[in-house]
Amino acid sequence: MKLIFEQGAPGRTGIHLPAADVPAKKEMEHLIPPEYLRRDPPALPEVSEVEAVRHFVGLSQLNYGVDTGFYPLGSCTMKYNPKVNEEIARLDGFSGVHPYQSEATVQGCLELLYNMDRYLCELTGMAKFSLQPAAGAQGELTGLMMIKAYHESRGEGCRTRIIVPDSSHGTNPASAQMAGLEVAEIKSNRSGRVDLDELKKNIDGRLAGIMLTNPNTLGLFESEIKEIADLVHQAGGLLYNDGANANAILGIATPGAMGFDVIHLNLHKTFSTPHGGGGPGSGPVGVKESLAPFLPKPLVEQAEGRYYLDYDRPHSIGRVKAFFGNFGVVVKACAYILSMGPEGLRRVAEDAVLNANYMKQALKGYYELPYDQVCKHEFVLSGSRQKERGVTTEDIAKRLLDYGFHPPTIYFPLIVREALMIEPTETENMDTLDRFIAAMIKIAGEVEQEPEMVRKAPHTTVVGRLDGVKAARKPVLKWRPEARYERLE
Ligand SMILES: *Cc1c(COP(=O)(O)O)cnc(C)c1O
Repeated sequence: MKLIFEQGAPGRTGIHLPAADVPAKKEMEHLIPPEYLRRDPPALPEVSEVEAVRHFVGLSQLNYGVDTGFYPLGSCTMKYNPKVNEEIARLDGFSGVHPYQSEATVQGCLELLYNMDRYLCELTGMAKFSLQPAAGAQGELTGLMMIKAYHESRGEGCRTRIIVPDSSHGTNPASAQMAGLEVAEIKSNRSGRVDLDELKKNIDGRLAGIMLTNPNTLGLFESEIKEIADLVHQAGGLLYNDGANANAILGIATPGAMGFDVIHLNLHKTFSTPHGGGGPGSGPVGVKESLAPFLPKPLVEQAEGRYYLDYDRPHSIGRVKAFFGNFGVVVKACAYILSMGPEGLRRVAEDAVLNANYMKQALKGYYELPYDQVCKHEFVLSGSRQKERGVTTEDIAKRLLDYGFHPPTIYFPLIVREALMIEPTETENMDTLDRFIAAMIKIAGEVEQEPEMVRKAPHTTVVGRLDGVKAARKPVLKWRPEARYERLE
């Protein structure tokens, strides 16, 4: 594709600029130090309107997203985002307000925040939520800071050890580190779950708590969660739930009942807000009653039919994000929750789990399935069989692009070699699931027949196989005439 900088011809233009209403350059020159004066005209492309429009529309059509196709990115929950959510978030009363407006003039917005706290509490079995954190990872940091503050308030500041399973999302140990906690990683057992003996070995007087994802990143439910909770609580620790992907439990089980004391949710995953490309997100944090005093402030409260911001919270860990967090994201999630209703949300969980199991059963004859059990919202295959033929999981992911699919998450969780982590979500129908299954089976066959071809994939995309290492070490972030994408041969 020709970049816009390479199009056009001298003198071609698509704009008519109005006459300047400031003095011409010549009259101003004596006011500007010479080193700041431009000597040569900028090297901008000279293109017509139609060239500019075609360029940008062309770029937009190269984009892949949930609106263009299947996006089975395990752990990231790329579900379809109903457009009504966008309509609601765009309403003037939500998008046109200013965060410094007085409480009296934003009662509707405060009511929405207040109600969202209630809805999320009901869905998770928690007592109170803060909607401030802007992402899952920030929710984790916030939750861990509260756990720390809780122990300190009881004169147990020595509790600085946090247990994290080896299957956990990378943000878990990173957030713990940032919160000033010491990470103790424990190995999962043969069934892919927390090993109770390993857990016991890591419990001592320094225990702050444990961070768990349930269902875990293998898509497996921690069936011994009650035993885990009892062990941790008896030792004076708390349970943190990484609830980024709550798709499997919505309306069916609550982390509160499982014994968790703190949870973060990713509204930009489970609650259908678009994500990817860096945001915006929203990672609300919910806690049981015992931790509520430590929540970030302010919280939205209600008295005599009015909503207000409560800053009078002496034990609060303080503010973690400006104003009310990413309010627009909260509005979209609220629209989603209300339009689905309790029955709809339960159906989300049922269909997400059904879709994942359907796909797992269809693919397990072609790819190794290290943990061959009923899964929840996602499952993890291994490309180790294909690796023996010299084809890596990355090659398989690239080949999927040729079939028009976004690849699943790869090389995570770390405990599965050549991992392919697939999360179909509830929003896909049987046709799409079957098409993806067919592509995966076709690729498994290609690995046997023509591995070299798979190794060089993709073959049909605008840009071929890129040098991943070079892209990370020497990223080309700016167009230069001499810079071109290099195809790997
Ligand atoms: C996505 C995810 C996170 C991090 O969420 P961000 O919003 O990307 O910070 C944490 N844990 C799990 C299991 C996730 O899938």
